[in-house]
Formats: sequence, C-alpha cells, structure tokens
Amino acid sequence: MKAFFFDQDGILYNSMPKHARAWAEVMQRHGFNFTEEDCFMNEGRTGQDVIREAIWELEHREATEEEIWEIYDEKGEAFIRQGEVEPIEGVIDVLRFLKKNKKEIWVVTGSAQASLLDNLNTRIGPFFDRSRMITAFDVTHGKPDPEPYLMAWDRCKQPKKECCVIENAPLGVRAGKAAGLFTIAVNTGPLADAALWNEGADLVFPSMKELLEWLRGSCIV
Ligand code: CA
Repeated sequence: MKAFFFDQDGILYNSMPKHARAWAEVMQRHGFNFTEEDCFMNEGRTGQDVIREAIWELEHREATEEEIWEIYDEKGEAFIRQGEVEPIEGVIDVLRFLKKNKKEIWVVTGSAQASLLDNLNTRIGPFFDRSRMITAFDVTHGKPDPEPYLMAWDRCKQPKKECCVIENAPLGVRAGKAAGLFTIAVNTGPLADAALWNEGADLVFPSMKELLEWLRGSCIV
C-alpha cells in the first residue's frame, strides 16, 4: 500500500456526537423529522445531499441551493457552539506510523465544515497537505457514490491495489468498495459492526489501537 485515504469525521476527529446533536437540533427547528440516529445512518453523505433529501421527503420538491446553504450554515454554527473537537483516540499514532513508513496520507470527506478542514494540521498533527484533500467542494456526487475515492485515486497516481480506504461509516465503506479499493472500517460510532461488514468492508476494527497493531504486523505497509 502506498496511499491511505482517510475519512475525516469519526476517523480523524471525534466529531460525530457533536455533528449528530447539531443536525438534529437544526433539522427539527426547520420541521424535519430528523434524529441523532438519522445522522449516523446518513454519515458520509455531504450535508448538502442530506438537506436536499430531507426537503424532497417532506415537501416533494427540489431544494434551492440558497436554502441548502442556509440550513447547512446554521448546522455549522450549531456544531461550533458545542466546543472544540478532539482527535479520535489513537489516530495520531496511526498517522505517525504511516508517515514514518513514507505513505501518502489523503483526506476524503463529505465535509464542508471549514473549522475542521482548515485545522487538521493544528488540531491533529502535521500530516496533511491541501493538495491531498478531497472535500464536499470538489465532488459532484458525494459518498456513497464512489466519486470522492475515485478522485483521490486518480490524483494520487498509484495503482488501485496500492490504495487503502479508512472509514467508519457504512455509506463511506460502500463508496470505498464501489471505487474498487481495499477498505478498512474502524467502528468508532454507535452502529453494530454488521452495518460495516454488510457494505463489504475488507476488515473491521473496534479502534485505532487494533488497526495500528494490525498495520504493524501486516505485509501491506
Ligand atoms: Ca465518517
């Protein structure tokens, strides 16, 4: 493996509980029946897609770009009000290990949250390069479509079999597998492991610690 494609929320940042609370608060304020659990079920999609779908389901109409961004900005503010997010426990050791072994570290995320995207190097560590990031701003079709991972693969110029996806969400695993990439799931959230295996994850680990132990002992690094 030469290149590792890291999802952001739930893999790099321990941000999902705060995202879930922010989504539920803002969506319910706008009249949508949207719970914290719905947030975990939708994890991986861009926020814009989540809002588009909610408006379609409630009002059977296409959302305008303006209202999508209005709700998304409110959600972003609700998220920031909940305070700083920490890195996922153990992820810094994984990143340090890969960097030491000269692996490319990419970020492939449906996020458009500037407070997270712009602070990876200060909040997590000096592992990230803007030219190796695919975000909600880059893609036409977000996860579970394979486009974000295919874009990372295309830009990194490595063979597919030398690229590895690290994901925590079922729809993210689906995107990685649909892109034809080896996909490791680290189950940092409340869903059962089966939700990740069912999407075709090649491996499922309960935490970054177990992933690091496996990477150290495996022949892929
Ligand atoms: Ca995630």
